[in-house]
Amino acid sequence: EQSERDSLFIVSDFANKHFQHNLHQHEQGGIGMSYLKQRGLSANTIKKFELGYSVDEWTDLTDTALKAGYQQKYLEATGLTIVKEDGKKYDRFRGRVMFPIHNVSGRVVGFGARTLKTNDKKSPKYLNSPESDIYHKSNVLYGLFQAKQALRMQDMCYMVEGYLDVLSLHQGGIENVVASSGTSLTEGQIKLIGRYTQNITVLYDGDAAGIKASLRGIDLILENGLNVDVVTFPEGEDPDSYIQKVGDTAFKAYIKEHAQDFISFKTSLYAAETKGSPVKKAEAIREIVASIAKVPDAIKRTVFFRSCSLIFDIDEQVLISEYNKMQLQER
Ligand code: ATP
Ligand code: MN
Ligand code: MN
Ligand code: MN
Repeated sequence: EQSERDSLFIVSDFANKHFQHNLHQHEQGGIGMSYLKQRGLSANTIKKFELGYSVDEWTDLTDTALKAGYQQKYLEATGLTIVKEDGKKYDRFRGRVMFPIHNVSGRVVGFGARTLKTNDKKSPKYLNSPESDIYHKSNVLYGLFQAKQALRMQDMCYMVEGYLDVLSLHQGGIENVVASSGTSLTEGQIKLIGRYTQNITVLYDGDAAGIKASLRGIDLILENGLNVDVVTFPEGEDPDSYIQKVGDTAFKAYIKEHAQDFISFKTSLYAAETKGSPVKKAEAIREIVASIAKVPDAIKRTVFFRSCSLIFDIDEQVLISEYNKMQLQER
């Protein structure tokens, strides 16, 4: 119901203001602020993305909100307050840096929250708001609200994994960037991007998980009819760590130089493993044909088959008949 949803928006907005107030005014806020500064974020970025801090107390937000007249049921429905079986209430987010997540129209629908502890095995590095009537994770992209205009202007969207990746790139002047934060990329998220641009460049972390996520992302993007390029980072680096390390100018040069279309990306990935083995090479070609098969547009498919045939020095007709075989198997 509409008024219910409105109440969830309103309490989320209150919490967002409260967390920001904590960061700037509360006696514990300095801990959060020095963490953000140490991560290289400027006062401007912190303000622009409305970053906040949840103080390390059990009921700071819950008490403040109830006292201000907000109803417990809405605090519960947004997941800001957790109520135990015995009726005891406590704040979901405590002692964490808060990243508000906005919908396309700029209203806060949820939060991501990072612990300040570097090596704490007991609590997760990031906590997220649960799904609610206003927060459907598969249809939200972190940073989209702040990126909208740049997506249209640049006619391209950089897709990253995390909150900090979005913030650091933005700060470095790359504003056409969003993160799927907290979920693996979904069809709904790709369709959202598709309202602004048909071109996505995936910038995932330079680790096995990042590569795997890129491969999955590529096929999903192709299936939805958008174009996809990929940039890989050195092992152990993510877009945030890399831009903070090398600086804006070198970072921009790096992504320009290392952007590959998905065929080259897959080719180089498999080339590293195949080492000339004909059987492995055949597997790699089949993988690439499988990705090309996802492309709905026949003309684009033809162009991709041509490029694949050149790279592997293999007859285009062979690729196309492999593709036709796959189509038959799908039925
Ligand atoms: P940082 O640089 O702060 O360490 P990151 O963004 O590089 O964080 P990754 O481990 O690369 O962290 O994870 C990417 C994203 O996945 C995070 O930004 C967060 O949205 C989500 N994520 C990571 N760990 C968790 C977790 N334990 N629970 C929920 N979401 C998580
Ligand atoms: Mn990672
Ligand atoms: Mn990362
Ligand atoms: Mn990181």
